[in-house]
Amino acid sequence: MSESQSPASLATLAIFPRLLPGSTVIAAEAVVHLIAGEDFRFTIQTGEATPAIAAVLRGCQGDRPLADLLVGLDPAQRELAIRIVDRLRSERMLFDGPPLPPPEVPWRIEIEGANSLAQRARELWPSLSGVLCQTSVQSTPPNTLNQVGVSIMRVLVQQDLDLAQVLEFNRRQLAGETDAWLWVTTGPLSRGYVSPVILNRGRPCLECLLRHFRRLSPAPQLYDALERPGEPAQFVPGEPAEPLARIVLEIAGWKLRRLGQAPAAASQFALHVVEAETLETALHPVWLDPTCPGCGDG
Ligand SMILES: [Zn+2]
Repeated sequence: MSESQSPASLATLAIFPRLLPGSTVIAAEAVVHLIAGEDFRFTIQTGEATPAIAAVLRGCQGDRPLADLLVGLDPAQRELAIRIVDRLRSERMLFDGPPLPPPEVPWRIEIEGANSLAQRARELWPSLSGVLCQTSVQSTPPNTLNQVGVSIMRVLVQQDLDLAQVLEFNRRQLAGETDAWLWVTTGPLSRGYVSPVILNRGRPCLECLLRHFRRLSPAPQLYDALERPGEPAQFVPGEPAEPLARIVLEIAGWKLRRLGQAPAAASQFALHVVEAETLETALHPVWLDPTCPGCGDG
């Protein structure tokens, strides 16, 4: 049987498909279940091709072109696999390319924030091994990136509730200023957050995270006030309790130190929440929000 492939499927064959981090592929009788947290659950009708499709999806790690993953499949299976990959891309369940730049590329850490916690981060993180640390708060113009062969990680360190600043920071990075970004905050006072490492290929982004917070909040209207653009509020930074400050900076430092190591740890891409009173630390997965105005279709 000869096959004619559309330009669209040829383009799909060239991508390096990678499933959303945390995805699980389960092959049942005539279907493949694809599950990533509570928000993404797909059941794909695959009939007799189920083992072949499940194998292709499990191979979607961002390190090989789709064409390689399809070797050995019969034409009908190939066609089905290409259609599924296209569909999962449109659902933002699958992305093109590895999540992080290659491990041999060094990272430059840039810290934004003018508060005491940010200052402490500047003192602490230059000693990270394997990464360069720039302590300037200057933004790097997009067109100068990567000219010196480094990947850029930018960290926003906050100790107030200026969520408009978080959104503005997130938008600048989404526009291509950096390769990855992170948000560290003790603004809520009773707890501290270290966001997932956010990547410009394969989100969620920080706006997805704030939308998640808003959904869980007993007072979501406060988010409207805190995120309000164009009306700078006077935020009084709260001085974090010493153990809380130390722990959130240690967690963030660990996420930064791990950047150059392969394989990446799943917990780098989770939200860390540290309770100030008890120092209890919890990890939560953060999924992209399909209606996010920052990175999605919202
Ligand atoms: Zn988003």
